[in-house]
Amino acid sequence: MGHPPRDLTSQREGRRRLIERLREAGVRDLALLHAFDRVPRHLFVPAVFEARAYADEALPLGHGQTISRPTTHALYLASLGLKGNEKVLEVGTGSGFQTALLATLCRQVFSIERVPELAAAARARIEALGFTNVAVRAGDGSYGWRKYAPFDAILVSAGARDVPRPLIEQLRPGGQLLIPLGDEKSQELHRMVRTDEASLTDEVIAKVQFVALRGADGVEVQTERVTPC
Ligand code: SAH
Repeated sequence: MGHPPRDLTSQREGRRRLIERLREAGVRDLALLHAFDRVPRHLFVPAVFEARAYADEALPLGHGQTISRPTTHALYLASLGLKGNEKVLEVGTGSGFQTALLATLCRQVFSIERVPELAAAARARIEALGFTNVAVRAGDGSYGWRKYAPFDAILVSAGARDVPRPLIEQLRPGGQLLIPLGDEKSQELHRMVRTDEASLTDEVIAKVQFVALRGADGVEVQTERVTPC
């Protein structure tokens, strides 16, 4: 019945190669490289893709969604420069892999996933790994998670046409928002910083192609590509 439990300590060699690949891609942050060692990506992909879990590729999760490439997660996390004491909101939990990376890199992680089955599977994986600083819920993340706001950082993992206003409102002054903005063909990953109550700085850090943020401001996108600017 079902699959046997998958070994948490296996695939060390795969993780070592992935970390080498991330170094080659320019990732220098040791805490970030350590997070990729700590979180076994093969437990976050469907069992049929386990052998490919440590390649730098996006893989299908079912429900028309994908787990992002490891270099995409590295790009997101490196551009935030986390120190370890942050409270973070993630929109688009998907597999929960980036959620678990965040859990090793900051104080508290709140993550929202639109597809209830994905949210439940991600929560189970994260709990099985023993993380106690993560909350995952099913819902439309374009409204944010007001109860736990303000956040030091908000990461949106799906493409949107515009920045959902509640996400800006739920950033603390000095807080950062990462969001892919564009149409269904391509998007640009924006890094915005709320400088005070009323203003935001806005910088484009990569060209990307993500699955769609479905909700108030969603667009339809099927695959993922990233070209750092
Ligand atoms: N970082 C995740 C990315 C998953 S793909 C991973 O690597 O596994 C993006 C996810 O965003 C999908 O699971 C999709 O269902 C979810 N999503 C899309 N629109 C959303 C919304 N409005 N609120 C919450 N999640 C959303």
